[in-house]
Amino acid sequence: MTDLAPPPSAGCRNAPVLKERGQREVFCGLTGIVWLHRKMQDAFFLVVGSRTCAHLLQSAAGVMIFAEPRFGTAILEETDLAGLADAHEELDREVARLLSRRPDIRQLFLVGSCPSEVIKLDLARAAERLTEIHAPRVRVLNFSGSGIETTFTQGEDACLASMVPVLPETEARELLVAGALPDVVEDQMLELLEALGIGPVRTLPARCADLDPSVGPNTVFALTQPFLGDTHAALIRRGARHIEAPMPFGDEGTTAWLAAIAREFGVSQERFEAVISAPRARARKAIAQASEPLKGKSVFFMPDSQLEVPLARFLTRECGMDAVEVGSPFIHDAIVGPDLDLLPAGPQISEGQDVERQLDRVRKARPDLTVCGLGLANPLEAEGLTTKWAIELVFTPVHFYEQAGDLASLFARPLNRKARLHLAKNTLGGLGADSPQPVS
Ligand code: SF4
Repeated sequence: MTDLAPPPSAGCRNAPVLKERGQREVFCGLTGIVWLHRKMQDAFFLVVGSRTCAHLLQSAAGVMIFAEPRFGTAILEETDLAGLADAHEELDREVARLLSRRPDIRQLFLVGSCPSEVIKLDLARAAERLTEIHAPRVRVLNFSGSGIETTFTQGEDACLASMVPVLPETEARELLVAGALPDVVEDQMLELLEALGIGPVRTLPARCADLDPSVGPNTVFALTQPFLGDTHAALIRRGARHIEAPMPFGDEGTTAWLAAIAREFGVSQERFEAVISAPRARARKAIAQASEPLKGKSVFFMPDSQLEVPLARFLTRECGMDAVEVGSPFIHDAIVGPDLDLLPAGPQISEGQDVERQLDRVRKARPDLTVCGLGLANPLEAEGLTTKWAIELVFTPVHFYEQAGDLASLFARPLNRKARLHLAKNTLGGLGADSPQPVS
Protein backbone atom coordinates (compact mmCIF):
# COMPACT_ATOMS: atom_id res chain seq x y z
CA MET A 1 0.00 0.00 0.00
CA THR A 2 1.33 3.45 -0.81
CA ASP A 3 1.21 6.26 1.72
CA LEU A 4 -1.30 8.17 -0.35
CA ALA A 5 -3.74 5.27 -0.55
CA PRO A 6 -6.68 5.55 1.88
CA PRO A 7 -6.29 3.41 5.01
CA PRO A 8 -8.03 0.02 5.01
CA SER A 9 -11.57 -0.16 6.35
CA ALA A 10 -11.71 -2.67 9.22
CA GLY A 11 -10.84 -2.49 12.87
CA CYS A 12 -13.39 -1.22 15.38
CA ARG A 13 -15.61 1.01 13.24
CA ASN A 14 -18.46 -1.45 13.25
CA ALA A 15 -17.77 -2.92 16.69
CA PRO A 16 -20.72 -2.80 19.11
CA VAL A 17 -20.56 0.32 21.30
CA LEU A 18 -21.46 0.11 24.97
CA LYS A 19 -23.58 3.21 25.67
CA GLU A 20 -23.23 4.49 29.22
CA ARG A 21 -25.58 7.10 30.66
CA GLY A 22 -24.82 7.63 34.32
CA GLN A 23 -22.78 9.72 36.70
CA ARG A 24 -19.88 11.55 35.06
CA GLU A 25 -16.54 12.52 36.48
CA VAL A 26 -15.14 15.26 34.27
CA PHE A 27 -13.90 18.86 34.31
CA CYS A 28 -16.09 21.58 32.85
CA GLY A 29 -15.58 23.38 29.53
CA LEU A 30 -14.09 26.48 31.16
CA THR A 31 -10.80 24.55 31.14
CA GLY A 32 -10.42 25.22 27.40
CA ILE A 33 -9.85 28.91 28.13
CA VAL A 34 -6.49 27.96 29.61
CA TRP A 35 -5.06 27.03 26.21
CA LEU A 36 -7.30 29.23 24.03
CA HIS A 37 -6.26 32.49 25.72
CA ARG A 38 -2.63 31.66 24.92
CA LYS A 39 -3.45 30.94 21.30
CA MET A 40 -5.67 33.92 20.44
CA GLN A 41 -3.52 36.91 21.19
CA ASP A 42 -6.13 39.65 20.90
CA ALA A 43 -9.01 37.78 22.52
CA PHE A 44 -10.38 38.07 26.02
CA PHE A 45 -12.50 35.44 27.72
CA LEU A 46 -14.91 36.91 30.24
CA VAL A 47 -16.46 34.11 32.26
CA VAL A 48 -19.85 35.11 33.62
CA GLY A 49 -19.86 32.91 36.67
CA SER A 50 -19.26 32.43 40.34
CA ARG A 51 -16.18 32.53 42.54
CA THR A 52 -15.89 28.77 42.01
CA CYS A 53 -15.46 29.36 38.27
CA ALA A 54 -12.85 32.04 38.97
CA HIS A 55 -10.94 29.67 41.27
CA LEU A 56 -11.06 26.85 38.71
CA LEU A 57 -9.60 29.10 36.03
CA GLN A 58 -6.90 30.53 38.25
CA SER A 59 -5.74 27.15 39.50
CA ALA A 60 -5.96 25.48 36.09
CA ALA A 61 -4.04 28.33 34.42
CA GLY A 62 -1.38 28.32 37.13
CA VAL A 63 0.81 31.36 37.62
CA MET A 64 -0.19 34.20 35.37
CA ILE A 65 2.67 34.86 32.99
CA PHE A 66 1.14 37.69 30.99
CA ALA A 67 1.60 41.39 31.74
CA GLU A 68 -2.14 41.64 31.11
CA PRO A 69 -4.25 38.52 31.51
CA ARG A 70 -6.54 37.51 28.68
CA PHE A 71 -9.28 36.02 30.80
CA GLY A 72 -11.29 37.07 33.80
CA THR A 73 -14.51 36.40 35.63
CA ALA A 74 -17.51 38.69 36.00
CA ILE A 75 -18.68 37.36 39.36
CA LEU A 76 -22.37 36.74 39.80
CA GLU A 77 -23.15 37.59 43.41
CA GLU A 78 -25.87 35.98 45.49
CA THR A 79 -28.24 38.83 44.70
CA ASP A 80 -27.79 38.15 40.98
CA LEU A 81 -28.42 34.46 41.51
CA ALA A 82 -31.63 35.31 43.30
CA GLY A 83 -32.62 37.37 40.29
CA LEU A 84 -32.64 40.60 42.31
CA ALA A 85 -30.22 42.59 40.23
CA ASP A 86 -30.18 43.37 36.56
CA ALA A 87 -27.24 41.24 35.55
CA HIS A 88 -27.35 42.57 31.97
CA GLU A 89 -26.72 46.16 33.06
CA GLU A 90 -23.93 45.02 35.33
CA LEU A 91 -22.39 43.00 32.52
CA ASP A 92 -22.53 45.99 30.13
CA ARG A 93 -20.75 48.12 32.72
CA GLU A 94 -18.07 45.45 33.29
CA VAL A 95 -17.44 45.09 29.56
CA ALA A 96 -17.25 48.86 29.02
CA ARG A 97 -14.75 49.12 31.86
CA LEU A 98 -12.66 46.26 30.51
CA LEU A 99 -12.59 47.51 26.92
CA SER A 100 -11.73 51.08 27.89
CA ARG A 101 -8.75 49.78 29.87
CA ARG A 102 -7.64 47.28 27.23
CA PRO A 103 -7.46 48.68 23.68
CA ASP A 104 -5.59 45.51 22.62
CA ILE A 105 -8.78 43.39 22.88
CA ARG A 106 -10.36 42.77 19.46
CA GLN A 107 -12.47 39.70 20.27
CA LEU A 108 -14.40 39.31 23.46
CA PHE A 109 -15.97 36.00 24.42
CA LEU A 110 -18.70 36.01 27.04
CA VAL A 111 -18.40 32.54 28.51
CA GLY A 112 -21.46 31.02 30.15
CA SER A 113 -21.16 28.91 33.31
CA CYS A 114 -23.42 26.84 35.55
CA PRO A 115 -24.54 29.92 37.54
CA SER A 116 -25.29 32.03 34.45
CA GLU A 117 -27.29 29.13 33.02
CA VAL A 118 -29.16 28.60 36.27
CA ILE A 119 -30.43 32.20 36.24
CA LYS A 120 -30.96 31.93 32.49
CA LEU A 121 -28.78 34.89 31.65
CA ASP A 122 -29.11 35.25 27.89
CA LEU A 123 -25.48 35.72 26.84
CA ALA A 124 -26.30 35.42 23.12
CA ARG A 125 -28.51 38.51 23.43
CA ALA A 126 -25.84 40.23 25.51
CA ALA A 127 -23.17 39.46 22.88
CA GLU A 128 -25.35 40.92 20.11
CA ARG A 129 -26.07 44.03 22.13
CA LEU A 130 -22.42 44.50 23.08
CA THR A 131 -21.25 43.95 19.48
CA GLU A 132 -23.54 46.79 18.38
CA ILE A 133 -22.04 49.03 21.05
CA HIS A 134 -18.38 48.14 20.52
CA ALA A 135 -18.16 47.31 16.77
CA PRO A 136 -16.10 47.59 14.67
CA ARG A 137 -13.23 47.66 17.16
CA VAL A 138 -14.38 44.62 19.11
CA ARG A 139 -16.42 41.59 18.12
CA VAL A 140 -18.35 40.06 21.01
CA LEU A 141 -19.34 36.39 20.87
CA ASN A 142 -20.60 33.95 23.45
CA PHE A 143 -20.33 30.27 24.24
CA SER A 144 -20.99 28.02 27.19
CA GLY A 145 -18.30 26.42 29.33
CA SER A 146 -20.87 25.16 31.82
CA GLY A 147 -20.04 21.96 33.62
CA ILE A 148 -23.55 20.56 33.31
CA GLU A 149 -23.29 17.56 31.01
CA THR A 150 -20.11 18.67 29.29
CA THR A 151 -16.51 17.53 29.09
CA PHE A 152 -13.53 19.84 29.39
CA THR A 153 -12.62 19.79 25.70
CA GLN A 154 -16.11 20.91 24.71
CA GLY A 155 -15.13 24.44 25.74
CA GLU A 156 -12.80 24.76 22.73
CA ASP A 157 -15.42 23.22 20.47
CA ALA A 158 -18.10 25.64 21.68
CA CYS A 159 -15.72 28.59 21.27
CA LEU A 160 -14.71 27.71 17.69
CA ALA A 161 -18.31 26.86 16.74
CA SER A 162 -19.39 30.31 17.98
CA MET A 163 -16.89 31.92 15.58
CA VAL A 164 -17.91 30.02 12.43
CA PRO A 165 -21.19 31.88 11.67
CA VAL A 166 -19.43 35.27 11.69
CA LEU A 167 -16.44 34.28 9.53
CA PRO A 168 -16.39 36.14 6.19
CA GLU A 169 -17.77 34.39 3.10
CA THR A 170 -15.42 33.27 0.32
CA GLU A 171 -15.67 31.43 -2.99
CA ALA A 172 -11.95 30.59 -2.95
CA ARG A 173 -10.72 27.01 -2.75
CA GLU A 174 -8.85 26.98 0.51
CA LEU A 175 -7.82 24.52 3.17
CA LEU A 176 -9.02 25.35 6.65
CA VAL A 177 -7.41 23.49 9.55
CA ALA A 178 -9.53 23.63 12.71
CA GLY A 179 -8.23 22.98 16.23
CA ALA A 180 -6.03 25.04 18.55
CA LEU A 181 -2.40 23.94 18.35
CA PRO A 182 0.61 25.47 20.10
CA ASP A 183 2.20 27.96 17.68
CA VAL A 184 5.38 25.91 17.27
CA VAL A 185 3.37 22.80 16.31
CA GLU A 186 1.11 24.80 14.00
CA ASP A 187 4.21 26.18 12.26
CA GLN A 188 5.53 22.65 11.69
CA MET A 189 2.18 21.66 10.17
CA LEU A 190 2.07 24.74 7.92
CA GLU A 191 5.64 24.04 6.72
CA LEU A 192 4.72 20.47 5.79
CA LEU A 193 1.61 21.59 3.93
CA GLU A 194 3.54 24.32 2.12
CA ALA A 195 6.25 21.87 1.12
CA LEU A 196 3.50 19.67 -0.33
CA GLY A 197 2.32 22.65 -2.40
CA ILE A 198 -1.01 22.86 -0.58
CA GLY A 199 -2.50 26.27 -0.04
CA PRO A 200 -3.76 28.72 0.84
CA VAL A 201 -4.05 27.25 4.34
CA ARG A 202 -6.06 29.02 7.04
CA THR A 203 -6.36 28.07 10.67
CA LEU A 204 -9.19 28.25 13.16
CA PRO A 205 -8.61 29.72 15.65
CA ALA A 206 -6.25 32.22 14.05
CA ARG A 207 -3.62 33.88 16.22
CA CYS A 208 -5.44 37.22 15.93
CA ALA A 209 -8.74 38.48 14.56
CA ASP A 210 -7.15 40.00 11.42
CA LEU A 211 -6.03 36.51 10.37
CA ASP A 212 -9.46 34.90 10.78
CA PRO A 213 -10.23 32.51 7.92
CA SER A 214 -13.04 32.96 5.42
CA VAL A 215 -15.33 30.06 4.63
CA GLY A 216 -17.61 29.03 1.77
CA PRO A 217 -18.65 26.26 -0.61
CA ASN A 218 -15.12 25.70 -1.91
CA THR A 219 -13.53 25.47 1.52
CA VAL A 220 -12.28 22.04 2.53
CA PHE A 221 -11.40 21.53 6.15
CA ALA A 222 -9.42 19.13 8.29
CA LEU A 223 -9.56 18.76 12.06
CA THR A 224 -6.54 18.40 14.31
CA GLN A 225 -8.65 17.61 17.37
CA PRO A 226 -11.29 14.90 17.61
CA PHE A 227 -13.51 16.85 20.00
CA LEU A 228 -14.72 19.45 17.50
CA GLY A 229 -18.16 18.01 16.76
CA ASP A 230 -20.06 21.32 16.90
CA THR A 231 -17.37 23.13 14.91
CA HIS A 232 -17.53 20.37 12.29
CA ALA A 233 -21.34 20.81 12.05
CA ALA A 234 -21.06 24.62 11.91
CA LEU A 235 -18.50 24.49 9.08
CA ILE A 236 -20.66 22.08 7.11
CA ARG A 237 -23.62 24.46 7.57
CA ARG A 238 -21.44 27.15 5.95
CA GLY A 239 -20.95 24.88 2.92
CA ALA A 240 -17.42 23.64 3.71
CA ARG A 241 -16.48 20.00 3.13
CA HIS A 242 -14.69 17.83 5.68
CA ILE A 243 -11.60 15.82 4.69
CA GLU A 244 -11.97 12.71 6.82
CA ALA A 245 -8.70 11.40 8.21
CA PRO A 246 -7.15 9.81 11.30
CA MET A 247 -5.96 12.41 13.79
CA PRO A 248 -2.31 13.51 13.35
CA PHE A 249 -0.93 11.63 16.36
CA GLY A 250 2.18 9.50 15.88
CA ASP A 251 3.89 8.56 12.64
CA GLU A 252 0.95 6.69 11.18
CA GLY A 253 -1.74 9.21 12.14
CA THR A 254 0.30 12.17 10.88
CA THR A 255 1.10 10.41 7.60
CA ALA A 256 -2.53 9.38 7.03
CA TRP A 257 -3.76 12.90 7.91
CA LEU A 258 -1.33 14.53 5.48
CA ALA A 259 -2.08 11.89 2.84
CA ALA A 260 -5.83 12.57 2.99
CA ILE A 261 -5.19 16.28 2.37
CA ALA A 262 -2.58 15.52 -0.29
CA ARG A 263 -5.11 13.33 -2.15
CA GLU A 264 -7.65 16.16 -2.01
CA PHE A 265 -5.13 18.58 -3.54
CA GLY A 266 -3.72 16.15 -6.13
CA VAL A 267 -0.19 15.95 -4.71
CA SER A 268 1.96 13.32 -6.44
CA GLN A 269 3.21 10.27 -4.58
CA GLU A 270 6.81 11.27 -5.31
CA ARG A 271 6.44 14.74 -3.86
CA PHE A 272 4.59 13.37 -0.84
CA GLU A 273 7.37 10.87 -0.12
CA ALA A 274 10.06 13.49 -0.61
CA VAL A 275 8.42 15.83 1.90
CA ILE A 276 7.52 13.37 4.63
CA SER A 277 10.35 10.85 4.53
CA ALA A 278 12.83 12.68 6.81
CA PRO A 279 10.37 13.84 9.53
CA ARG A 280 8.66 10.48 9.35
CA ALA A 281 11.93 8.63 9.92
CA ARG A 282 12.64 10.90 12.92
CA ALA A 283 9.18 10.19 14.33
CA ARG A 284 9.58 6.43 13.92
CA LYS A 285 12.96 6.48 15.65
CA ALA A 286 11.66 8.61 18.53
CA ILE A 287 8.59 6.40 19.00
CA ALA A 288 10.70 3.23 18.92
CA GLN A 289 12.90 4.60 21.71
CA ALA A 290 10.12 6.03 23.87
CA SER A 291 7.68 3.16 23.52
CA GLU A 292 9.95 0.38 24.79
CA PRO A 293 8.29 0.28 28.27
CA LEU A 294 4.83 0.21 26.65
CA LYS A 295 5.28 -2.99 24.64
CA GLY A 296 2.89 -5.75 25.65
CA LYS A 297 1.24 -3.58 28.34
CA SER A 298 -2.50 -3.13 28.60
CA VAL A 299 -4.30 0.23 28.61
CA PHE A 300 -7.82 1.22 29.68
CA PHE A 301 -9.27 4.57 28.61
CA MET A 302 -11.89 6.17 30.83
CA PRO A 303 -14.03 8.67 28.90
CA ASP A 304 -12.64 12.15 29.46
CA SER A 305 -10.82 14.18 26.80
CA GLN A 306 -12.45 12.79 23.63
CA LEU A 307 -8.92 12.03 22.42
CA GLU A 308 -9.31 8.41 23.49
CA VAL A 309 -9.99 6.71 20.14
CA PRO A 310 -7.07 8.24 18.20
CA LEU A 311 -4.73 7.74 21.16
CA ALA A 312 -5.77 4.10 21.49
CA ARG A 313 -5.02 3.70 17.80
CA PHE A 314 -1.56 5.21 18.33
CA LEU A 315 -0.75 3.14 21.42
CA THR A 316 -1.90 -0.16 19.96
CA ARG A 317 -0.49 0.17 16.45
CA GLU A 318 2.68 2.15 17.06
CA CYS A 319 3.63 1.39 20.67
CA GLY A 320 2.68 -2.28 21.01
CA MET A 321 0.03 -1.85 23.73
CA ASP A 322 -3.20 -3.82 24.08
CA ALA A 323 -6.36 -1.79 24.63
CA VAL A 324 -8.84 -3.30 27.10
CA GLU A 325 -11.53 -0.63 26.86
CA VAL A 326 -11.65 2.61 24.91
CA GLY A 327 -14.23 4.87 26.49
CA SER A 328 -15.00 8.29 25.08
CA PRO A 329 -17.63 10.85 26.13
CA PHE A 330 -18.88 11.01 22.52
CA ILE A 331 -18.09 8.93 19.48
CA HIS A 332 -18.60 11.05 16.39
CA ASP A 333 -18.25 8.69 13.45
CA ALA A 334 -17.49 11.39 10.85
CA ILE A 335 -14.58 12.55 13.01
CA VAL A 336 -13.09 9.45 14.68
CA GLY A 337 -14.34 6.89 12.12
CA PRO A 338 -10.95 6.75 10.31
CA ASP A 339 -9.20 6.11 13.65
CA LEU A 340 -11.74 3.41 14.50
CA ASP A 341 -10.99 1.80 11.12
CA LEU A 342 -7.36 1.43 12.14
CA LEU A 343 -7.87 0.45 15.79
CA PRO A 344 -7.30 -3.33 15.97
CA ALA A 345 -10.44 -5.26 16.91
CA GLY A 346 -10.62 -6.44 20.51
CA PRO A 347 -11.21 -3.60 22.99
CA GLN A 348 -14.64 -2.74 24.34
CA ILE A 349 -15.65 0.58 22.79
CA SER A 350 -17.84 2.60 25.13
CA GLU A 351 -19.52 5.98 24.80
CA GLY A 352 -20.65 8.19 27.68
CA GLN A 353 -19.99 7.57 31.32
CA ASP A 354 -21.35 5.62 34.26
CA VAL A 355 -18.36 6.07 36.49
CA GLU A 356 -19.02 3.35 39.09
CA ARG A 357 -19.63 0.68 36.48
CA GLN A 358 -16.54 1.72 34.58
CA LEU A 359 -14.44 1.64 37.73
CA ASP A 360 -15.70 -1.90 38.38
CA ARG A 361 -14.45 -2.89 34.93
CA VAL A 362 -11.08 -1.23 35.54
CA ARG A 363 -10.68 -3.09 38.87
CA LYS A 364 -11.58 -6.36 37.20
CA ALA A 365 -9.21 -5.89 34.27
CA ARG A 366 -6.37 -4.37 36.37
CA PRO A 367 -4.76 -2.81 33.28
CA ASP A 368 -1.11 -1.80 33.32
CA LEU A 369 -2.16 1.78 32.57
CA THR A 370 -5.46 3.62 33.06
CA VAL A 371 -5.96 6.93 31.26
CA CYS A 372 -8.45 8.98 33.23
CA GLY A 373 -9.37 12.35 34.73
CA LEU A 374 -7.66 13.91 37.73
CA GLY A 375 -10.50 13.01 40.09
CA LEU A 376 -10.15 9.30 39.39
CA ALA A 377 -6.37 9.04 39.15
CA ASN A 378 -5.53 9.33 42.85
CA PRO A 379 -8.05 6.76 44.11
CA LEU A 380 -6.92 4.32 41.42
CA GLU A 381 -3.25 4.90 42.27
CA ALA A 382 -4.13 4.17 45.92
CA GLU A 383 -5.50 0.83 44.73
CA GLY A 384 -2.15 0.01 43.11
CA LEU A 385 -3.10 0.91 39.54
CA THR A 386 -0.95 3.12 37.33
CA THR A 387 -2.67 6.11 35.77
CA LYS A 388 -2.14 8.86 33.23
CA TRP A 389 -4.05 12.14 33.50
CA ALA A 390 -5.97 12.67 30.29
CA ILE A 391 -5.86 16.46 30.71
CA GLU A 392 -2.06 16.45 30.27
CA LEU A 393 -2.56 15.25 26.73
CA VAL A 394 -4.35 18.46 25.86
CA PHE A 395 -1.86 20.75 27.58
CA THR A 396 1.22 19.12 26.03
CA PRO A 397 2.28 19.48 22.36
CA VAL A 398 1.58 16.00 20.98
CA HIS A 399 0.57 16.45 17.33
CA PHE A 400 2.54 15.67 14.16
CA TYR A 401 5.89 14.00 13.53
CA GLU A 402 8.20 16.01 15.76
CA GLN A 403 6.09 15.42 18.87
CA ALA A 404 5.41 11.71 18.24
CA GLY A 405 8.20 10.55 20.55
CA ASP A 406 6.98 12.90 23.30
CA LEU A 407 3.49 11.48 22.96
CA ALA A 408 4.77 7.94 23.56
CA SER A 409 6.91 9.24 26.46
CA LEU A 410 3.86 10.72 28.16
CA PHE A 411 2.40 7.23 28.48
CA ALA A 412 5.71 5.57 29.29
CA ARG A 413 6.48 7.94 32.18
CA PRO A 414 4.01 6.57 34.75
CA LEU A 415 5.07 3.00 33.93
CA ASN A 416 8.75 3.93 34.32
CA ARG A 417 8.00 5.65 37.63
CA LYS A 418 6.18 2.58 38.88
CA ALA A 419 9.08 0.33 37.86
CA ARG A 420 11.55 2.60 39.70
CA LEU A 421 9.39 2.63 42.83
CA HIS A 422 9.12 -1.13 42.70
CA LEU A 423 12.89 -1.42 42.39
CA ALA A 424 13.47 1.01 45.26
CA LYS A 425 11.03 -0.90 47.46
CA ASN A 426 12.75 -4.20 46.75
CA THR A 427 16.15 -2.68 47.39
CA LEU A 428 14.95 -1.25 50.70
CA GLY A 429 13.45 -4.60 51.63
CA GLY A 430 16.79 -6.27 50.86
CA LEU A 431 18.69 -3.72 52.96
CA GLY A 432 16.55 -4.37 56.02
CA ALA A 433 14.76 -1.86 58.23
CA ASP A 434 17.89 -0.67 60.08
CA SER A 435 20.00 -0.05 56.99
CA PRO A 436 20.46 3.52 55.75
CA GLN A 437 17.93 4.38 53.03
CA PRO A 438 19.17 5.19 49.52
CA VAL A 439 18.45 8.68 48.32
CA SER A 440 16.64 8.68 44.93
S1 SF4 B 1 -18.88 26.38 35.12
FE1 SF4 B 1 -19.90 25.09 36.62
S2 SF4 B 1 -18.55 23.29 36.85
FE2 SF4 B 1 -17.34 24.92 35.87
S3 SF4 B 1 -16.29 25.95 37.57
FE3 SF4 B 1 -18.20 27.11 37.15
S4 SF4 B 1 -19.70 26.22 38.57
FE4 SF4 B 1 -17.98 24.77 38.46
